[in-house]
Amino acid sequence: MQIHLSDITDSEGKVIQLHPELELNEISFQMGNYPILDKVPVELKITNTGNKVLELTGNGSVTVGIPCDRCLEEVSVEIPYVIDRKLDMKQSDKDRVENLDENDYLTGMDLDVDRLVYLEVLMNWPLKVLCKEDCKGICSQCGKNLNEGPCGCIEEPKDPRMAAISDIFSKFKEV
Ligand SMILES: [Zn+2]
Ligand SMILES: [Zn+2]
Repeated sequence: MQIHLSDITDSEGKVIQLHPELELNEISFQMGNYPILDKVPVELKITNTGNKVLELTGNGSVTVGIPCDRCLEEVSVEIPYVIDRKLDMKQSDKDRVENLDENDYLTGMDLDVDRLVYLEVLMNWPLKVLCKEDCKGICSQCGKNLNEGPCGCIEEPKDPRMAAISDIFSKFKEV
């Protein structure tokens, strides 16, 4: 959704509260494309703090389908975000490019809320996604999801506690 900012930019001290609906349906970046399964309207507050500077504050959350790191089953992950940015409306688009300001959610007087939320979601992207803490993953030989039962391949049984200990030893070796 686009919000036109010229009215608020011209009224010093003005505050507006908005609840824009997101049009965003997926989050795409170099790691892949992830569908948005659920989203709540953004709670957005725009304050003109004077001198044509706007303060954007707000929050919301989206629920994204992300594959489990071990078994690749899609997991619903809720990603909350907080918006806290300042926009200097005295700058032209050209000034912003020259100042390496990555405000690409702002074009002229138009604020692209979807783009802003997209950037906030990326900043809060989870480092690790598991369908459950003890997900058994997939068999490295046949590819079967081991949460559904054993596959019959012959493999060294891996004790997670032993794996943790051998990790510690390999760290010692590096030092
Ligand atoms: Zn899993
Ligand atoms: Zn197998």
